[in-house]
Amino acid sequence: MKEFDLIEKISRFFKSPAKGIGIGDDTAAIRSGYEYHLITVDTLTEGTHYRKEWRKVFPHLYRSIGWKLLAVSVSDIASMGGMPHAAVTSFTLKKDFEEGEIVELAKGLSAACNHFNVLLVGGDTVKGNCEAFSLTLTGEAEEIMTRSAAKPGDLVAVTGICGDAAAGLNIIESGKIDTIEKRKLVERFLFPRPSIEMGKRLVLSGVKCCMDNSDGLLLTCHEIASKSNVAVNLESKKIPVSKEVKKLFGDKAFKFALSGGEDFNLVFTFPESLKSLFKKEKNVFIIGRVTEGSGTYIDGKPAQISSFDHFGG
Ligand code: ADP
Ligand code: MG
Repeated sequence: MKEFDLIEKISRFFKSPAKGIGIGDDTAAIRSGYEYHLITVDTLTEGTHYRKEWRKVFPHLYRSIGWKLLAVSVSDIASMGGMPHAAVTSFTLKKDFEEGEIVELAKGLSAACNHFNVLLVGGDTVKGNCEAFSLTLTGEAEEIMTRSAAKPGDLVAVTGICGDAAAGLNIIESGKIDTIEKRKLVERFLFPRPSIEMGKRLVLSGVKCCMDNSDGLLLTCHEIASKSNVAVNLESKKIPVSKEVKKLFGDKAFKFALSGGEDFNLVFTFPESLKSLFKKEKNVFIIGRVTEGSGTYIDGKPAQISSFDHFGG
């Protein structure tokens, strides 16, 4: 069973908040007075999200796990247009855990807390068979953006280059980081920098539909299309791919841009009337258009949606 199908099955047992959004968006958003309280949780697991072997080429791996543990949830808050606030963690450690590495992780997490202005206020530490780090993050927003608000006629945009993180993962898996270019891409993968400011700017500009592209550009567009009951049409030439990745990976670069995850950019849609706001913005790339219908298309052809699924779908 695929991850999405499983979540759908689970979600049937729970009702949404009376005012706001429950399961199904980047964060839950519970309306209280004039504000939304946002809440989200994410987990990084050994074997699935990182491998200890990577330390051979990237000794500070655990520092990056700490950083990333917070950054991935900050990305979800940013995609709703919110400001992050407080976090609690849950660490599952194996019996023979390495204390020094957990201290490294705490340093990375602390650096991220400072960078994203988040208060870490608690957590839980338990023994288990597989190492896993989980973090719950709260936030606030006055207005929110959702996955379900795309409208036919909207333009589709992304707030950064796509595919760098997937390239970084590929490089670290290759076991060789022998150039500065490669190191930069690995760092894009290990130390993502979601932009809270960008999320805020979008929501204040009147953008209603947004999602982070943590699971890859195509899957993100597909999710927006499905939740909004529209079709998303992308133009391959407009999808931003970095020169370095093209140089290192040739044709594969475009595949990374479409299906690679973890870039932590925002994908958003907006009416033509807002175009002048974004046209000159350096980090906003207009990549397509929303139409009536369903599904995701590239240059008019149905897109092959392939992306990471935890259960191999
Ligand atoms: P993201 O990648 O933005 O963190 P996910 O793809 O992990 O989002 O999850 C999609 C939606 O499903 C979110 O609203 C999330 O809260 C919800 N979800 C995922 N797993 C579960 C679960 N086990 N129980 C309830 N809701 C879940
Ligand atoms: Mg998300």
